[in-house]
Amino acid sequence: MSTPSARSPKHLVVLGATGSIGQSAAKVARDIPERVRLVGLSAHRNPEGLAALAREFPDAALCLTDPACATAFPAALRPEGRFFEGEEGLIALATLPEAEMVLIAIVGIGGLRPALAAIEAGKDLAIASKEILVMAGGIVMEAARRKGVRVLPVDSEHNAIFQCLEGRPGGGSEVSRLILTASGGPFRQAPAESLATVTPEQALRHPTWSMGSKITIDSATLFNKGLEMIEARWLFDVPMSRVEVIVHPQSIVHSMVEFVDGSILAQLSHSDMCFPIQYAVTWPERVANTLRPLDFAALGRLEFEAPRADVFPALDLARAAGEAGGTLPAVLNAANEVAVEAFLAGRLRFPGIWETVAATLEAHAPIAQPDLGAIVAADRWARENAAARI
Ligand code: NDP
Ligand code: MG
Repeated sequence: MSTPSARSPKHLVVLGATGSIGQSAAKVARDIPERVRLVGLSAHRNPEGLAALAREFPDAALCLTDPACATAFPAALRPEGRFFEGEEGLIALATLPEAEMVLIAIVGIGGLRPALAAIEAGKDLAIASKEILVMAGGIVMEAARRKGVRVLPVDSEHNAIFQCLEGRPGGGSEVSRLILTASGGPFRQAPAESLATVTPEQALRHPTWSMGSKITIDSATLFNKGLEMIEARWLFDVPMSRVEVIVHPQSIVHSMVEFVDGSILAQLSHSDMCFPIQYAVTWPERVANTLRPLDFAALGRLEFEAPRADVFPALDLARAAGEAGGTLPAVLNAANEVAVEAFLAGRLRFPGIWETVAATLEAHAPIAQPDLGAIVAADRWARENAAARI
Protein backbone atom coordinates (compact mmCIF):
# COMPACT_ATOMS: atom_id res chain seq x y z
CA MET A 1 0.00 0.00 0.00
CA SER A 2 1.40 3.40 -0.86
CA THR A 3 1.66 5.96 1.92
CA PRO A 4 1.40 9.70 1.18
CA SER A 5 5.12 10.19 1.78
CA ALA A 6 5.93 7.44 -0.73
CA ARG A 7 3.97 9.20 -3.46
CA SER A 8 5.80 10.76 -6.36
CA PRO A 9 5.31 14.51 -6.82
CA LYS A 10 2.48 15.68 -9.06
CA HIS A 11 3.77 17.03 -12.36
CA LEU A 12 2.21 20.48 -12.66
CA VAL A 13 2.14 22.99 -15.52
CA VAL A 14 1.43 26.60 -14.52
CA LEU A 15 0.04 28.88 -17.23
CA GLY A 16 0.49 32.44 -15.98
CA ALA A 17 3.46 31.54 -13.76
CA THR A 18 4.69 35.14 -13.36
CA GLY A 19 1.39 36.43 -11.96
CA SER A 20 0.11 36.56 -8.41
CA ILE A 21 -1.40 33.04 -8.53
CA GLY A 22 1.62 31.74 -10.45
CA GLN A 23 3.98 33.03 -7.76
CA SER A 24 1.86 31.40 -5.06
CA ALA A 25 2.01 28.12 -7.01
CA ALA A 26 5.81 28.40 -7.05
CA LYS A 27 5.71 28.95 -3.27
CA VAL A 28 3.68 25.76 -2.87
CA ALA A 29 6.19 23.86 -5.04
CA ARG A 30 9.02 25.18 -2.83
CA ASP A 31 7.13 24.30 0.34
CA ILE A 32 6.18 20.72 -0.54
CA PRO A 33 8.63 19.66 -3.30
CA GLU A 34 8.00 16.00 -2.49
CA ARG A 35 4.38 16.55 -3.67
CA VAL A 36 4.64 19.11 -6.51
CA ARG A 37 7.09 19.32 -9.40
CA LEU A 38 6.75 22.22 -11.86
CA VAL A 39 7.18 20.80 -15.37
CA GLY A 40 5.88 23.73 -17.44
CA LEU A 41 5.75 27.51 -16.86
CA SER A 42 4.37 30.32 -19.02
CA ALA A 43 4.60 34.10 -18.94
CA HIS A 44 3.30 36.78 -21.30
CA ARG A 45 5.41 39.97 -21.16
CA ASN A 46 7.72 39.32 -18.26
CA PRO A 47 10.83 37.51 -19.55
CA GLU A 48 12.78 38.46 -16.39
CA GLY A 49 10.16 36.88 -14.17
CA LEU A 50 10.14 33.73 -16.28
CA ALA A 51 13.95 33.64 -16.28
CA ALA A 52 13.99 33.73 -12.47
CA LEU A 53 11.58 30.80 -12.36
CA ALA A 54 13.59 28.93 -15.01
CA ARG A 55 16.73 29.22 -12.87
CA GLU A 56 14.90 27.82 -9.88
CA PHE A 57 12.99 25.10 -11.74
CA PRO A 58 15.44 24.13 -14.53
CA ASP A 59 13.47 21.02 -15.57
CA ALA A 60 10.41 23.00 -16.60
CA ALA A 61 9.41 23.56 -20.23
CA LEU A 62 8.83 27.28 -20.87
CA CYS A 63 6.56 29.50 -22.93
CA LEU A 64 6.53 33.24 -23.53
CA THR A 65 3.29 34.11 -25.28
CA ASP A 66 4.35 37.56 -26.48
CA PRO A 67 6.71 36.95 -29.44
CA ALA A 68 8.71 40.16 -28.89
CA CYS A 69 9.37 39.18 -25.29
CA ALA A 70 10.26 35.64 -26.36
CA THR A 71 13.06 37.05 -28.52
CA ALA A 72 14.47 38.83 -25.43
CA PHE A 73 14.59 35.63 -23.37
CA PRO A 74 18.19 34.52 -22.58
CA ALA A 75 19.31 31.64 -24.80
CA ALA A 76 21.21 30.01 -21.94
CA LEU A 77 18.00 29.50 -20.00
CA ARG A 78 16.03 27.91 -22.84
CA PRO A 79 15.57 24.20 -22.17
CA GLU A 80 16.47 22.34 -25.36
CA GLY A 81 13.41 21.56 -27.45
CA ARG A 82 11.21 22.79 -24.61
CA PHE A 83 11.00 26.54 -25.20
CA PHE A 84 7.74 27.66 -26.82
CA GLU A 85 6.19 30.91 -27.99
CA GLY A 86 2.74 32.38 -28.61
CA GLU A 87 -0.66 30.85 -27.97
CA GLU A 88 0.45 27.60 -29.62
CA GLY A 89 3.16 27.44 -26.98
CA LEU A 90 0.51 27.46 -24.25
CA ILE A 91 -1.14 24.48 -25.94
CA ALA A 92 2.23 22.71 -26.12
CA LEU A 93 2.69 23.22 -22.36
CA ALA A 94 -0.90 22.22 -21.56
CA THR A 95 -0.45 18.93 -23.40
CA LEU A 96 3.13 18.05 -22.32
CA PRO A 97 3.34 14.27 -22.06
CA GLU A 98 4.74 14.39 -18.51
CA ALA A 99 2.11 16.84 -17.20
CA GLU A 100 -0.56 15.45 -14.88
CA MET A 101 -2.31 18.69 -13.96
CA VAL A 102 -2.51 22.12 -15.57
CA LEU A 103 -3.08 25.21 -13.42
CA ILE A 104 -4.79 27.93 -15.46
CA ALA A 105 -3.71 31.23 -13.89
CA ILE A 106 -3.80 33.55 -16.91
CA VAL A 107 -5.81 36.70 -16.35
CA GLY A 108 -8.85 36.96 -18.65
CA ILE A 109 -9.87 34.41 -21.27
CA GLY A 110 -6.40 33.60 -22.69
CA GLY A 111 -6.45 30.28 -20.84
CA LEU A 112 -9.60 28.93 -22.49
CA ARG A 113 -8.07 27.17 -25.53
CA PRO A 114 -5.16 25.73 -23.52
CA ALA A 115 -7.66 24.49 -20.89
CA LEU A 116 -9.70 22.69 -23.54
CA ALA A 117 -6.51 21.25 -25.06
CA ALA A 118 -5.39 20.01 -21.63
CA ILE A 119 -8.74 18.29 -21.13
CA GLU A 120 -8.53 16.61 -24.55
CA ALA A 121 -5.03 15.39 -23.61
CA GLY A 122 -6.49 13.85 -20.43
CA LYS A 123 -4.89 16.27 -17.94
CA ASP A 124 -6.63 17.32 -14.73
CA LEU A 125 -7.24 21.05 -14.46
CA ALA A 126 -6.82 23.41 -11.53
CA ILE A 127 -8.65 26.60 -12.53
CA ALA A 128 -7.94 30.02 -11.06
CA SER A 129 -9.04 31.94 -14.17
CA LYS A 130 -12.71 32.40 -13.38
CA GLU A 131 -13.23 34.34 -16.61
CA ILE A 132 -13.01 31.17 -18.70
CA LEU A 133 -15.68 29.45 -16.59
CA VAL A 134 -17.93 32.50 -16.78
CA MET A 135 -17.49 32.64 -20.54
CA ALA A 136 -17.66 28.94 -21.38
CA GLY A 137 -18.25 27.00 -18.15
CA GLY A 138 -20.79 24.66 -19.72
CA ILE A 139 -18.40 23.69 -22.50
CA VAL A 140 -15.37 23.26 -20.21
CA MET A 141 -17.28 21.14 -17.66
CA GLU A 142 -18.94 19.00 -20.34
CA ALA A 143 -15.57 18.36 -22.03
CA ALA A 144 -14.07 17.38 -18.66
CA ARG A 145 -16.98 15.01 -17.94
CA ARG A 146 -16.60 13.41 -21.38
CA LYS A 147 -12.86 12.87 -20.94
CA GLY A 148 -13.15 11.86 -17.27
CA VAL A 149 -10.73 14.53 -16.04
CA ARG A 150 -11.06 16.56 -12.83
CA VAL A 151 -11.65 20.29 -12.64
CA LEU A 152 -10.36 21.47 -9.28
CA PRO A 153 -11.28 24.99 -8.16
CA VAL A 154 -8.45 27.30 -7.07
CA ASP A 155 -10.49 30.46 -6.52
CA SER A 156 -10.53 30.57 -2.70
CA GLU A 157 -14.34 30.64 -2.37
CA HIS A 158 -14.87 27.70 -4.72
CA ASN A 159 -12.00 25.76 -3.21
CA ALA A 160 -13.67 26.31 0.19
CA ILE A 161 -17.01 25.06 -1.13
CA PHE A 162 -15.28 22.08 -2.73
CA GLN A 163 -13.75 21.25 0.65
CA CYS A 164 -17.09 21.64 2.48
CA LEU A 165 -18.99 19.47 -0.01
CA GLU A 166 -16.56 16.56 0.59
CA GLY A 167 -17.42 14.94 -2.71
CA ARG A 168 -21.20 15.53 -2.57
CA PRO A 169 -22.76 17.05 -5.68
CA GLY A 170 -23.32 20.80 -5.11
CA GLY A 171 -26.65 20.56 -6.90
CA GLY A 172 -27.71 17.43 -4.98
CA SER A 173 -30.74 17.15 -2.72
CA GLU A 174 -28.66 17.43 0.50
CA VAL A 175 -27.39 20.96 -0.24
CA SER A 176 -29.60 24.01 0.21
CA ARG A 177 -27.24 26.97 -0.38
CA LEU A 178 -23.70 27.81 -1.42
CA ILE A 179 -22.71 30.98 0.46
CA LEU A 180 -19.83 32.91 -1.13
CA THR A 181 -18.03 35.34 1.14
CA ALA A 182 -16.81 38.71 -0.17
CA SER A 183 -14.39 41.10 1.51
CA GLY A 184 -16.50 44.01 0.26
CA GLY A 185 -13.39 45.62 -1.26
CA PRO A 186 -11.90 49.02 -0.41
CA PHE A 187 -15.25 50.85 -0.81
CA ARG A 188 -17.36 48.60 1.38
CA GLN A 189 -18.51 51.53 3.51
CA ALA A 190 -17.92 54.38 1.08
CA PRO A 191 -20.85 56.73 0.40
CA ALA A 192 -22.38 55.96 -3.01
CA GLU A 193 -21.71 59.48 -4.31
CA SER A 194 -17.99 59.22 -3.51
CA LEU A 195 -17.52 56.38 -6.02
CA ALA A 196 -17.69 58.76 -9.01
CA THR A 197 -14.23 60.16 -8.18
CA VAL A 198 -12.43 56.96 -7.20
CA THR A 199 -8.92 56.71 -8.72
CA PRO A 200 -7.23 53.50 -9.94
CA GLU A 201 -4.73 53.88 -7.09
CA GLN A 202 -7.52 53.88 -4.48
CA ALA A 203 -9.31 50.96 -6.14
CA LEU A 204 -6.09 48.93 -6.24
CA ARG A 205 -5.73 49.10 -2.45
CA HIS A 206 -7.42 45.85 -1.47
CA PRO A 207 -8.07 45.51 2.27
CA THR A 208 -7.25 41.79 2.68
CA TRP A 209 -5.81 40.15 -0.49
CA SER A 210 -2.75 40.89 -2.60
CA MET A 211 -3.68 40.01 -6.22
CA GLY A 212 -3.21 41.02 -9.85
CA SER A 213 -4.66 44.40 -10.88
CA LYS A 214 -7.64 43.11 -12.89
CA ILE A 215 -9.12 40.99 -10.09
CA THR A 216 -8.37 43.74 -7.56
CA ILE A 217 -10.52 46.19 -9.54
CA ASP A 218 -13.17 43.46 -9.88
CA SER A 219 -13.14 43.15 -6.09
CA ALA A 220 -13.69 46.89 -5.73
CA THR A 221 -16.72 46.90 -8.09
CA LEU A 222 -17.98 43.53 -6.74
CA PHE A 223 -17.86 42.15 -10.31
CA ASN A 224 -15.42 39.62 -8.86
CA LYS A 225 -18.21 38.22 -6.68
CA GLY A 226 -20.62 38.42 -9.60
CA LEU A 227 -18.24 36.40 -11.78
CA GLU A 228 -17.78 33.97 -8.89
CA MET A 229 -21.54 33.32 -8.62
CA ILE A 230 -21.52 32.21 -12.26
CA GLU A 231 -18.27 30.28 -11.71
CA ALA A 232 -19.96 28.39 -8.81
CA ARG A 233 -22.96 27.63 -10.98
CA TRP A 234 -20.74 25.70 -13.42
CA LEU A 235 -18.20 24.17 -11.05
CA PHE A 236 -20.88 22.71 -8.78
CA ASP A 237 -23.75 22.35 -11.27
CA VAL A 238 -26.18 24.39 -9.16
CA PRO A 239 -28.89 26.84 -10.20
CA MET A 240 -27.91 30.48 -9.60
CA SER A 241 -30.82 30.78 -7.15
CA ARG A 242 -28.89 28.55 -4.71
CA VAL A 243 -25.75 30.74 -4.79
CA GLU A 244 -25.69 33.61 -2.30
CA VAL A 245 -23.18 36.30 -1.32
CA ILE A 246 -22.39 37.63 2.15
CA VAL A 247 -19.81 40.30 2.95
CA HIS A 248 -17.18 39.18 5.45
CA PRO A 249 -14.56 41.94 5.79
CA GLN A 250 -11.85 39.81 7.48
CA SER A 251 -11.60 37.27 4.57
CA ILE A 252 -11.00 34.38 6.98
CA VAL A 253 -14.13 32.34 6.21
CA HIS A 254 -13.59 31.61 2.51
CA SER A 255 -17.13 30.35 1.83
CA MET A 256 -19.77 28.04 3.26
CA VAL A 257 -22.21 25.31 2.32
CA GLU A 258 -25.61 25.05 3.97
CA PHE A 259 -27.16 21.58 4.00
CA VAL A 260 -30.87 20.77 4.12
CA ASP A 261 -30.65 19.79 7.80
CA GLY A 262 -29.70 23.40 8.57
CA SER A 263 -26.03 22.70 9.31
CA ILE A 264 -23.44 24.93 7.67
CA LEU A 265 -19.84 23.92 6.96
CA ALA A 266 -17.21 26.59 6.34
CA GLN A 267 -13.51 26.57 5.43
CA LEU A 268 -11.22 29.02 7.23
CA SER A 269 -7.62 30.09 6.82
CA HIS A 270 -5.54 33.24 6.39
CA SER A 271 -6.06 35.02 3.07
CA ASP A 272 -3.17 33.33 1.26
CA MET A 273 -3.77 31.63 -2.09
CA CYS A 274 -1.20 28.96 -1.22
CA PHE A 275 -3.95 27.22 0.80
CA PRO A 276 -6.37 26.62 -2.08
CA ILE A 277 -3.59 25.99 -4.62
CA GLN A 278 -2.05 23.31 -2.42
CA TYR A 279 -5.40 21.65 -1.77
CA ALA A 280 -6.19 21.54 -5.50
CA VAL A 281 -2.82 19.95 -6.22
CA THR A 282 -2.72 17.43 -3.35
CA TRP A 283 -6.46 16.58 -3.30
CA PRO A 284 -7.83 14.26 -2.00
CA GLU A 285 -5.03 14.27 0.55
CA ARG A 286 -4.08 16.86 3.12
CA VAL A 287 -0.37 17.51 3.35
CA ALA A 288 1.54 19.33 6.12
CA ASN A 289 3.13 22.63 5.10
CA THR A 290 4.74 25.72 6.59
CA LEU A 291 1.77 28.08 6.10
CA ARG A 292 0.80 30.24 9.07
CA PRO A 293 -1.98 28.72 11.21
CA LEU A 294 -4.99 30.75 12.40
CA ASP A 295 -4.96 32.22 15.88
CA PHE A 296 -8.59 32.81 16.88
CA ALA A 297 -7.78 34.75 20.03
CA ALA A 298 -5.66 37.17 17.97
CA LEU A 299 -8.38 37.47 15.32
CA GLY A 300 -10.94 38.42 17.96
CA ARG A 301 -14.02 38.53 15.78
CA LEU A 302 -15.42 37.64 12.41
CA GLU A 303 -18.10 39.91 10.95
CA PHE A 304 -20.78 39.44 8.31
CA GLU A 305 -23.06 41.91 6.56
CA ALA A 306 -25.34 42.07 3.53
CA PRO A 307 -23.75 43.33 0.30
CA ARG A 308 -24.89 46.80 -0.83
CA ALA A 309 -26.46 45.67 -4.09
CA ASP A 310 -28.01 49.11 -4.64
CA VAL A 311 -24.58 50.80 -4.61
CA PHE A 312 -22.71 48.04 -6.49
CA PRO A 313 -24.92 46.90 -9.40
CA ALA A 314 -22.38 44.25 -10.45
CA LEU A 315 -24.01 41.58 -8.29
CA ASP A 316 -27.47 41.97 -9.82
CA LEU A 317 -26.06 42.29 -13.35
CA ALA A 318 -24.10 39.06 -12.92
CA ARG A 319 -27.01 37.21 -11.32
CA ALA A 320 -29.32 38.20 -14.17
CA ALA A 321 -26.74 37.23 -16.83
CA GLY A 322 -26.00 33.95 -15.06
CA GLU A 323 -29.70 33.09 -14.75
CA ALA A 324 -30.40 33.93 -18.39
CA GLY A 325 -27.28 32.01 -19.46
CA GLY A 326 -26.48 31.54 -23.16
CA THR A 327 -24.07 34.18 -24.45
CA LEU A 328 -24.91 36.76 -21.74
CA PRO A 329 -22.23 35.72 -19.19
CA ALA A 330 -19.57 35.91 -21.92
CA VAL A 331 -20.77 39.41 -22.83
CA LEU A 332 -20.75 40.49 -19.16
CA ASN A 333 -17.21 39.18 -18.74
CA ALA A 334 -15.84 40.70 -21.95
CA ALA A 335 -17.42 44.13 -21.38
CA ASN A 336 -16.06 44.10 -17.83
CA GLU A 337 -12.52 43.26 -19.01
CA VAL A 338 -12.57 46.14 -21.50
CA ALA A 339 -14.03 48.54 -18.93
CA VAL A 340 -11.50 47.60 -16.24
CA GLU A 341 -8.64 48.13 -18.69
CA ALA A 342 -10.05 51.57 -19.59
CA PHE A 343 -10.49 52.49 -15.91
CA LEU A 344 -6.90 51.48 -15.12
CA ALA A 345 -5.69 53.56 -18.08
CA GLY A 346 -7.59 56.60 -16.80
CA ARG A 347 -10.08 56.55 -19.70
CA LEU A 348 -13.20 55.64 -17.70
CA ARG A 349 -14.67 56.71 -14.35
CA PHE A 350 -15.15 53.98 -11.74
CA PRO A 351 -18.97 53.81 -12.06
CA GLY A 352 -18.39 53.73 -15.83
CA ILE A 353 -17.30 50.11 -15.38
CA TRP A 354 -20.76 48.84 -14.44
CA GLU A 355 -22.48 51.39 -16.69
CA THR A 356 -20.51 50.02 -19.66
CA VAL A 357 -21.28 46.42 -18.73
CA ALA A 358 -24.99 47.15 -18.25
CA ALA A 359 -25.27 48.99 -21.58
CA THR A 360 -23.38 46.27 -23.46
CA LEU A 361 -25.61 43.55 -21.98
CA GLU A 362 -28.66 45.62 -22.91
CA ALA A 363 -27.50 45.93 -26.53
CA HIS A 364 -26.72 42.23 -26.94
CA ALA A 365 -29.04 39.86 -28.81
CA PRO A 366 -28.41 36.70 -26.79
CA ILE A 367 -28.11 33.18 -28.16
CA ALA A 368 -29.66 30.62 -25.81
CA GLN A 369 -27.60 27.46 -26.51
CA PRO A 370 -24.33 28.73 -27.99
CA ASP A 371 -21.51 26.47 -29.16
CA LEU A 372 -17.91 27.56 -28.62
CA GLY A 373 -17.87 29.52 -31.90
CA ALA A 374 -20.94 31.51 -30.90
CA ILE A 375 -19.47 32.23 -27.46
CA VAL A 376 -16.20 33.44 -28.97
CA ALA A 377 -18.16 35.62 -31.42
CA ALA A 378 -20.24 37.09 -28.55
CA ASP A 379 -17.04 37.79 -26.62
CA ARG A 380 -15.56 39.63 -29.60
CA TRP A 381 -18.78 41.55 -30.24
CA ALA A 382 -18.96 42.61 -26.58
CA ARG A 383 -15.35 43.82 -26.57
CA GLU A 384 -15.98 45.98 -29.64
CA ASN A 385 -19.33 47.22 -28.38
CA ALA A 386 -17.97 48.11 -24.93
CA ALA A 387 -14.86 49.78 -26.38
CA ALA A 388 -17.03 51.93 -28.67
CA ARG A 389 -19.01 53.16 -25.63
CA ILE A 390 -15.82 54.17 -23.81
P1 NDP B 1 -1.81 38.58 -12.64
O1 NDP B 1 -2.15 39.77 -13.45
O2 NDP B 1 -1.01 38.75 -11.41
O3 NDP B 1 -1.03 37.49 -13.55
C1 NDP B 1 -1.52 37.13 -14.80
C2 NDP B 1 -0.62 36.09 -15.44
O4 NDP B 1 -1.12 35.83 -16.76
C3 NDP B 1 0.83 36.54 -15.62
O5 NDP B 1 1.66 35.42 -15.58
C4 NDP B 1 0.82 37.13 -17.04
O6 NDP B 1 2.09 37.10 -17.65
C5 NDP B 1 -0.12 36.20 -17.74
N1 NDP B 1 -0.84 36.81 -18.86
C6 NDP B 1 -1.40 38.04 -18.89
N2 NDP B 1 -1.99 38.25 -20.09
C7 NDP B 1 -1.76 37.13 -20.83
C8 NDP B 1 -2.12 36.75 -22.16
N3 NDP B 1 -2.79 37.55 -22.97
N4 NDP B 1 -1.72 35.52 -22.58
C9 NDP B 1 -1.03 34.69 -21.77
N5 NDP B 1 -0.67 35.00 -20.51
C10 NDP B 1 -1.05 36.21 -20.04
O7 NDP B 1 -3.20 37.85 -12.33
P2 NDP B 1 -3.60 36.99 -11.06
O8 NDP B 1 -2.55 35.97 -10.77
O9 NDP B 1 -4.06 37.87 -9.98
O10 NDP B 1 -4.92 36.26 -11.60
C11 NDP B 1 -4.87 35.22 -12.56
C12 NDP B 1 -6.26 34.60 -12.66
O11 NDP B 1 -6.58 33.99 -11.41
C13 NDP B 1 -7.36 35.63 -12.92
O12 NDP B 1 -8.32 35.05 -13.77
C14 NDP B 1 -7.96 35.88 -11.56
O13 NDP B 1 -9.34 36.22 -11.62
C15 NDP B 1 -7.79 34.51 -10.91
N6 NDP B 1 -7.71 34.57 -9.45
C16 NDP B 1 -6.69 35.26 -8.84
C17 NDP B 1 -6.60 35.34 -7.46
C18 NDP B 1 -5.44 36.03 -6.80
O14 NDP B 1 -5.33 35.95 -5.57
N7 NDP B 1 -4.57 36.70 -7.52
C19 NDP B 1 -7.61 34.71 -6.61
C20 NDP B 1 -8.61 33.97 -7.33
C21 NDP B 1 -8.64 33.92 -8.70
P3 NDP B 1 3.17 38.35 -17.49
O15 NDP B 1 3.35 38.54 -16.03
O16 NDP B 1 4.39 37.80 -18.13
O17 NDP B 1 2.62 39.52 -18.20
MG1 MG C 1 -12.21 34.53 -5.12
